[in-house]
Amino acid sequence: MSTVDLVLELAQRKNIVNIIPKGKLFKSHGCMHWSKMTGKMFGKRAIGRPMTSRCLDNQEIDGCICQKCYATTINKVYPNMAAALQRNRDVNPDDVYTNPPAFACNDDMTWRSNWNGDYQDEHDVLIDMELCYVLNYAVCTAWTKNIAAVEAMEDYRPSNYTVMQSSFMINEQDDMSDQADQIFTIYTAEYAAENDIEINCIGACRLCKRCYGDLSHRPKVVNELLKGSEAKYFELMGL
Ligand code: SF4
Repeated sequence: MSTVDLVLELAQRKNIVNIIPKGKLFKSHGCMHWSKMTGKMFGKRAIGRPMTSRCLDNQEIDGCICQKCYATTINKVYPNMAAALQRNRDVNPDDVYTNPPAFACNDDMTWRSNWNGDYQDEHDVLIDMELCYVLNYAVCTAWTKNIAAVEAMEDYRPSNYTVMQSSFMINEQDDMSDQADQIFTIYTAEYAAENDIEINCIGACRLCKRCYGDLSHRPKVVNELLKGSEAKYFELMGL
């Protein structure tokens, strides 16, 4: 195994991409960290970012799903992750890669953006789009509440960049943007049972995979129960 292959192998094992010295395979040290995740995202390749000021403002709004934010919890549990998340935002989009990457994204060639945090602005979107151009064999599903930032980048959008618009409020599906491929909404057990909401998300992406890869197999509307309300839902539904 060559030194470069060995470094790439180690990079994959560490879930870190682009640790190659300048001038080897990539233009610079712009680091994209493929974060390790637990829970719903266990085993998925994904990129996280710091929470934005919008994220924090949203947490003040009654009924907003951001009040139940998973990132808030995990960032407290793993405070050392903050630097890597920040690097994912600070990277210069021109420096993402310059040559075809020599690593495999993962076994199903799909990845998720914004498993933690959200797009702050068009700069964050551009980084993902640059990654899509380089990782042209893989499909990105970018989850966001900042659909305006995606809409602003419409003309630059590569075909392997797909978007899951994340609804702002619990129990209320947002109007779906033309730039969104799917829409994701969280429901309480009571609301879902009373309003005949189809709950079609099992909360385990690695097993389910329906929101990744080829768009033809994806549900347009994805509904998940609020964490912790599953037992109540089953009881209300007589299951
Ligand atoms: S429907 Fe499946 S792939 Fe989509 S978010 Fe839910 S668990 Fe993940």
